[in-house]
Amino acid sequence: MSRRIKVNEIYCSIQGETTWTGWRFAFVRLAGCNLRCRWCDTPAARGDGQDVTIDDLMDRVATLRCGRVLVTGGEPLVQQATPELLRRLCDAEYRTLLETNGSRDLSDVDARVIKIVDVKCPASGQAGTTRRDALEALGRDDEVKFVIADGEDYAYACDVVGRYALNERVAVTFSPVFGEVDPAELAGWLLADRLDVRLGLQVHKILWPGRSEGI
Ligand code: SF4
Repeated sequence: MSRRIKVNEIYCSIQGETTWTGWRFAFVRLAGCNLRCRWCDTPAARGDGQDVTIDDLMDRVATLRCGRVLVTGGEPLVQQATPELLRRLCDAEYRTLLETNGSRDLSDVDARVIKIVDVKCPASGQAGTTRRDALEALGRDDEVKFVIADGEDYAYACDVVGRYALNERVAVTFSPVFGEVDPAELAGWLLADRLDVRLGLQVHKILWPGRSEGI
């Protein structure tokens, strides 16, 4: 019998972050989160969501006719059925990405899944929640992103990148918190420090300002 999982929404849109920016993706936004970031842009996903079977979820993803799937949240790994969902997506030959806040154990995640770890910075109110093993276990195709609100966040992100040699192992993106830091200012810091990380501009927020769900 197919296991059940709680979903906030499923939709097709343009990927706005990471090295996959610009590609059409099927987004599977799972329900529930263990953190409370100050500027959470998907608060609705922290609720209970809709209880569906993984079979039903797979059918809904298939109707979107997209070979790339991002499983996000909320925090997907608060649900025990998520590793099985990820495995099913890989078995069905979707290019499968998982976006996680890095606070949960990644050891049950299928090796075929590309992991995007969102490291929380001080202004989010959730710094220090990223697991050391989540950063140490990242493979070549995985990615790390930092969402940066101010200079303190920037210094914190630089320190984490250096401590784990992240930009020597995986793609690293620094993105400004929309409306809190001028993207040009962040770009200036990266240039001044000659830092080899990518500047991310959260393309979905430029395309559809003010909308966070079902884009
Ligand atoms: S981890 Fe994501 S979903 Fe959870 S509170 Fe932070 S921004 Fe919101």
